[in-house]
Amino acid sequence: MTSNAPLSWPDLPAKQQPTWPDRQALNDATQSLSVLPPLVFAGECDILRQRLAEAARGEAFVLMGGDCAETFAAATADNIRDRIKTILQMAAVLTYGASTPVVKVGRIAGQFAKPRSKDTETRGETTLPAYRGDLVNDFAFTLEARNPNPERLLQAYHTSSATLNLVRAFTQGGFADLRFVHEWNRGFIANSANARYERMAGDIDKAMRFMAACGVDFEEMRRVDVWASHEALVLDYERPLTRIDSRTGSRYATSGHFVWIGERTRDLDGAHIDYISRVTNPVGIKVGPSADPAEIVELARRVDPDRIPGRLTLITRMGADTIHAALPPIVKGVSDAGLEVTWVCDPMHGNTFESSTGYKTRRFEDIVEEVRGFFEVHHALGTIPGGIHVELTGNDVTECLGGAMHVEDRDLELRYETLCDPRLNHQQSLELAFVVAEMLQSR
Ligand code: PEP
Ligand code: MN
Repeated sequence: MTSNAPLSWPDLPAKQQPTWPDRQALNDATQSLSVLPPLVFAGECDILRQRLAEAARGEAFVLMGGDCAETFAAATADNIRDRIKTILQMAAVLTYGASTPVVKVGRIAGQFAKPRSKDTETRGETTLPAYRGDLVNDFAFTLEARNPNPERLLQAYHTSSATLNLVRAFTQGGFADLRFVHEWNRGFIANSANARYERMAGDIDKAMRFMAACGVDFEEMRRVDVWASHEALVLDYERPLTRIDSRTGSRYATSGHFVWIGERTRDLDGAHIDYISRVTNPVGIKVGPSADPAEIVELARRVDPDRIPGRLTLITRMGADTIHAALPPIVKGVSDAGLEVTWVCDPMHGNTFESSTGYKTRRFEDIVEEVRGFFEVHHALGTIPGGIHVELTGNDVTECLGGAMHVEDRDLELRYETLCDPRLNHQQSLELAFVVAEMLQSR
């Protein structure tokens, strides 16, 4: 059990926080949050930390994936099922490629807040507060919708709770059975556009039959773990959900198993880095191309002073063109300092651009190239490429260009549904898993 006693926090500068117009409503909401049950438990977070430590040593591979921005409206049973299905399908392929377990982590059940490059958005003559994610305000372009509303903190909690409940049911209740997952992947290969991956799919098929012939107990493998993660951005949500584990006396974020700090809020002396340095969960920090290696080493020392295996994941997001120049000094800096982190590649956030048709998009081929660069850099330095972090959906959206289905500029308008960054659709996600599995095989 965890204690709900209020915790106090130092008053440090915090970037990207909403300006709540109604302080009383904010106090009411944070007070309510502080007595609600934890969404995740200390013991679960500790297990995930061990899994991530395995990935840091090359004994497992991490797959993090999900929406850029979850929304309340899209938290439907079908959407959640299809996202979990996509993650499980990718994980099956990656497990084969890596010949190690795959640690499955959703950007799910809490990914409701977004950092913005500008505080306001202007359309025509009208300027309103920027959309900061459903945790804070609504996407609709009216003053009422864009006003930060603290009741949303509670709605985010309840939506996360319902989402997590379904994730747990799907992954513990037999839906994640490897035999089903394998059948779903046959559907992907049946599409002639994916003929390139037939050989590996055939090999996986043989491996499944081999396992069956050896008498592997598939019934034993019907349960899997899918962990919940999100960016710890809005501290008025994270702090009230931070609890002391009464068994160990340690402090945990209970909003998700794994939380990370984004590229825009990872100031060494800011409130966000202070926050993650005070919780026991496994945590991540995003690292972009302009990061100074010495600063990353300082961050790692601050967040993980005791060098606990699996505690810190550095999620690098460099861009396909930049990774060969930008990643090596950072990896070298960290390993020369004797720090052990889990290296994860986010091939999405360094590869965003505006399409000729005016959509924020990414090219599948750039995403693949960044992952390839990530493997090459780590091989050259003798460090371990520990996993990937991607924005994806289980739906057939048209938000990212390319892939075997050749999504083109003019297709983007067909099903462009994201409220924030473009996501790989179901097909592109599986295709990425096959391509990365090939890279893992030659690792
Ligand atoms: C994100 O993960 O959606 C994000 C905003 O990433 P970053 O902090 O790396 O820009
Ligand atoms: Mn994003």
